[in-house]
Amino acid sequence: MGKQLPVLYVDVDGVLSLFDTPKAPPPIRPDTHFLGVGGVGHLIALDNCARLLSLVDDFELVWATGWEERANDELLSVIGLSEPLDVVSFDTAKYDHQAHWKLGALDAHAGDRPLAWIDDALDDACREWATSRSAPTLLVETKSNEGLTDAHAEQLTNWAKQIREQAA
Ligand SMILES: [Mg+2]
Repeated sequence: MGKQLPVLYVDVDGVLSLFDTPKAPPPIRPDTHFLGVGGVGHLIALDNCARLLSLVDDFELVWATGWEERANDELLSVIGLSEPLDVVSFDTAKYDHQAHWKLGALDAHAGDRPLAWIDDALDDACREWATSRSAPTLLVETKSNEGLTDAHAEQLTNWAKQIREQAA
Protein backbone atom coordinates (compact mmCIF):
# COMPACT_ATOMS: atom_id res chain seq x y z
CA MET A 1 0.00 0.00 0.00
CA GLY A 2 2.69 2.46 1.04
CA LYS A 3 4.61 1.82 -2.16
CA GLN A 4 1.71 3.19 -4.16
CA LEU A 5 2.00 6.60 -2.53
CA PRO A 6 4.39 9.25 -3.77
CA VAL A 7 7.25 10.03 -1.42
CA LEU A 8 7.42 13.34 0.40
CA TYR A 9 10.96 14.19 1.44
CA VAL A 10 10.80 16.42 4.49
CA ASP A 11 13.49 18.83 5.57
CA VAL A 12 13.34 19.97 9.20
CA ASP A 13 15.24 23.24 9.56
CA GLY A 14 13.26 25.90 7.72
CA VAL A 15 10.22 23.62 7.33
CA LEU A 16 9.24 22.55 10.87
CA SER A 17 12.02 24.28 12.80
CA LEU A 18 12.06 28.02 12.13
CA PHE A 19 14.94 30.45 12.09
CA ASP A 20 15.79 33.89 10.80
CA THR A 21 18.04 34.80 7.91
CA PRO A 22 19.50 38.12 6.81
CA LYS A 23 16.44 38.55 4.59
CA ALA A 24 13.82 37.16 6.95
CA PRO A 25 12.98 38.42 10.43
CA PRO A 26 13.16 36.08 13.42
CA PRO A 27 10.15 33.81 13.79
CA ILE A 28 8.37 34.95 16.95
CA ARG A 29 5.26 32.83 17.16
CA PRO A 30 2.99 31.75 20.00
CA ASP A 31 2.70 28.18 18.75
CA THR A 32 6.32 27.12 18.95
CA HIS A 33 7.80 24.33 20.98
CA PHE A 34 11.38 24.85 22.07
CA LEU A 35 13.59 21.83 21.52
CA GLY A 36 17.24 21.53 22.45
CA VAL A 37 19.04 19.04 20.21
CA GLY A 38 22.76 18.48 20.40
CA GLY A 39 23.26 21.74 22.25
CA VAL A 40 21.37 23.75 19.63
CA GLY A 41 17.97 25.31 20.32
CA HIS A 42 15.21 24.84 17.77
CA LEU A 43 11.85 26.57 17.49
CA ILE A 44 9.46 23.87 16.31
CA ALA A 45 6.28 25.37 14.82
CA LEU A 46 3.37 23.24 16.01
CA ASP A 47 1.03 24.43 13.24
CA ASN A 48 3.60 23.26 10.72
CA CYS A 49 3.79 19.88 12.42
CA ALA A 50 0.00 19.57 12.21
CA ARG A 51 0.15 20.39 8.50
CA LEU A 52 2.75 17.70 7.97
CA LEU A 53 0.59 15.22 9.86
CA SER A 54 -2.32 16.08 7.56
CA LEU A 55 -0.32 14.74 4.60
CA VAL A 56 0.18 11.17 5.88
CA ASP A 57 -2.67 9.72 3.82
CA ASP A 58 -1.35 11.26 0.61
CA PHE A 59 2.37 10.56 0.92
CA GLU A 60 4.95 8.26 2.36
CA LEU A 61 6.81 10.75 4.52
CA VAL A 62 10.60 10.37 4.55
CA TRP A 63 13.05 12.54 6.47
CA ALA A 64 15.54 14.38 4.25
CA THR A 65 17.38 16.44 6.82
CA GLY A 66 20.75 16.79 8.44
CA TRP A 67 18.94 15.70 11.59
CA GLU A 68 18.80 12.19 10.09
CA GLU A 69 17.67 9.69 12.80
CA ARG A 70 17.40 12.46 15.38
CA ALA A 71 14.30 13.64 13.49
CA ASN A 72 12.59 10.41 14.53
CA ASP A 73 14.04 10.59 18.03
CA GLU A 74 12.98 14.16 18.69
CA LEU A 75 9.99 15.01 16.51
CA LEU A 76 7.58 12.05 16.26
CA SER A 77 5.72 12.85 19.46
CA VAL A 78 5.71 16.58 18.70
CA ILE A 79 4.13 15.88 15.31
CA GLY A 80 1.87 13.10 16.52
CA LEU A 81 3.28 10.36 14.32
CA SER A 82 3.09 6.88 15.81
CA GLU A 83 5.69 5.15 13.64
CA PRO A 84 9.24 6.27 12.79
CA LEU A 85 9.71 7.57 9.27
CA ASP A 86 12.25 6.27 6.84
CA VAL A 87 15.38 8.44 6.86
CA VAL A 88 17.65 9.42 3.98
CA SER A 89 21.26 8.99 5.07
CA PHE A 90 23.59 11.64 3.75
CA ASP A 91 27.13 10.61 3.09
CA THR A 92 28.59 13.96 3.90
CA ALA A 93 30.51 15.22 6.88
CA LYS A 94 29.26 18.77 6.60
CA TYR A 95 25.66 19.93 6.58
CA ASP A 96 24.88 23.47 5.57
CA HIS A 97 21.88 25.40 4.35
CA GLN A 98 22.48 24.56 0.71
CA ALA A 99 20.37 21.79 -0.74
CA HIS A 100 22.61 20.27 -3.37
CA TRP A 101 24.43 18.09 -0.82
CA LYS A 102 21.20 16.14 -0.49
CA LEU A 103 20.68 15.43 -4.18
CA GLY A 104 22.74 12.27 -4.65
CA ALA A 105 21.25 10.51 -1.64
CA LEU A 106 17.71 11.62 -2.48
CA ASP A 107 18.05 10.42 -6.05
CA ALA A 108 19.34 7.02 -4.92
CA HIS A 109 16.61 6.69 -2.29
CA ALA A 110 13.77 7.68 -4.63
CA GLY A 111 14.65 5.48 -7.60
CA ASP A 112 11.90 6.07 -10.16
CA ARG A 113 9.08 6.85 -7.73
CA PRO A 114 7.04 10.04 -7.90
CA LEU A 115 8.24 12.42 -5.23
CA ALA A 116 7.72 15.79 -3.67
CA TRP A 117 10.44 17.51 -1.67
CA ILE A 118 9.87 20.32 0.80
CA ASP A 119 12.95 22.27 1.83
CA ASP A 120 13.97 25.85 2.57
CA ALA A 121 17.20 25.64 0.56
CA LEU A 122 16.44 24.44 -2.95
CA ASP A 123 18.72 25.69 -5.67
CA ASP A 124 19.15 25.51 -9.44
CA ALA A 125 20.85 22.11 -9.18
CA CYS A 126 17.73 20.77 -7.45
CA ARG A 127 15.44 22.31 -10.05
CA GLU A 128 17.47 20.85 -12.91
CA TRP A 129 17.43 17.46 -11.23
CA ALA A 130 13.66 17.66 -10.72
CA THR A 131 13.14 18.52 -14.39
CA SER A 132 15.37 15.65 -15.49
CA ARG A 133 13.47 12.95 -13.55
CA SER A 134 11.12 10.72 -15.52
CA ALA A 135 8.68 10.33 -12.62
CA PRO A 136 6.47 13.21 -11.43
CA THR A 137 8.50 15.50 -9.18
CA LEU A 138 7.39 18.51 -7.17
CA LEU A 139 9.73 20.86 -5.34
CA VAL A 140 8.21 22.99 -2.60
CA GLU A 141 10.46 25.73 -1.26
CA THR A 142 9.73 27.28 2.11
CA LYS A 143 10.95 30.42 3.85
CA SER A 144 13.08 29.53 6.84
CA ASN A 145 11.17 31.82 9.19
CA GLU A 146 7.72 30.47 8.33
CA GLY A 147 8.28 26.93 7.05
CA LEU A 148 5.44 24.68 5.90
CA THR A 149 2.33 26.85 5.39
CA ASP A 150 -1.31 26.05 4.65
CA ALA A 151 -0.67 26.98 1.02
CA HIS A 152 2.20 24.49 0.78
CA ALA A 153 0.12 21.73 2.35
CA GLU A 154 -2.72 22.43 -0.06
CA GLN A 155 -0.33 22.41 -3.01
CA LEU A 156 1.05 19.04 -1.89
CA THR A 157 -2.40 17.54 -1.33
CA ASN A 158 -3.58 18.67 -4.77
CA TRP A 159 -0.45 17.34 -6.43
CA ALA A 160 -0.82 13.93 -4.75
CA LYS A 161 -4.43 13.83 -5.93
CA GLN A 162 -3.30 14.47 -9.50
CA ILE A 163 -0.78 11.65 -9.23
CA ARG A 164 -3.48 9.25 -8.05
CA GLU A 165 -5.79 10.29 -10.87
CA GLN A 166 -3.05 9.84 -13.47
CA ALA A 167 -2.27 6.37 -12.09
CA ALA A 168 -5.94 5.30 -12.03
MG1 LIG B 1 16.58 23.33 5.76
